[in-house]
Amino acid sequence: MREAGRISAQALTEVGRAVAPGVSTAKLNAVAEEVIRQAGATPAFLGYQGFPATICASINDELVHGLPSEDRLLQEGDIISIDVGAIHEGYVGDTADTFAVGTIDPQSQRLIDTTREGLYAGIEQCVAGKRLGDVSAAIGAIAEREKLGIVREYTGHGIGTRMHEDPSIPNWGPKGRGVRLKNGMVFAIEPMFTLGNGRVEKLGDGWTVASRDGGRCGHIEHTVAITGEGPQILTIP
Ligand code: MG
Repeated sequence: MREAGRISAQALTEVGRAVAPGVSTAKLNAVAEEVIRQAGATPAFLGYQGFPATICASINDELVHGLPSEDRLLQEGDIISIDVGAIHEGYVGDTADTFAVGTIDPQSQRLIDTTREGLYAGIEQCVAGKRLGDVSAAIGAIAEREKLGIVREYTGHGIGTRMHEDPSIPNWGPKGRGVRLKNGMVFAIEPMFTLGNGRVEKLGDGWTVASRDGGRCGHIEHTVAITGEGPQILTIP
């Protein structure tokens, strides 16, 4: 899982370097696929439930599952969530980040910073003996402090030989409840916050999920192992 995570992270890093005004999301997809295949791994999203690409590329008010396209060019001031995963020797890594395209407005920067803070607050709770609700509550508290919307229709998840395993990991909820965490569990933690009320809908392409109120969306994800030495982020290059 460490190797699957490393490759996924390397792909995300390379995509992040390629993000710039005028670049198409299809180009970003090609960058990610090249990194994953060069590493001898397989794109985890390609063909997953019929998904047609290696990355999800979701711009501004889009939250997740955006489809890469030759026609979709990044513009100065956009934010873009890139989600990417790799399968290596049967194990899956899953990671995402929200990138700024050139200079972005202060609210968008606050959204990205807070989403990242929420992610790390959740990761900090990934310790044996704690409960799943402790992870969820820590993430949700960060969004609430900043008065950001929390997306409730989508969540983090367990991950292993399949990309989406139990448990589902909401980005909100009370602490002290849910599954007791144990060493060896691996979670994909992925806060999804918005500059709005957090309600989302699926668009007409059948894949892209966007905010209903047009508020921009932040989405950042790491695959994290619970170990005797505490939480270990597997999706680092
Ligand atoms: Mg995920």
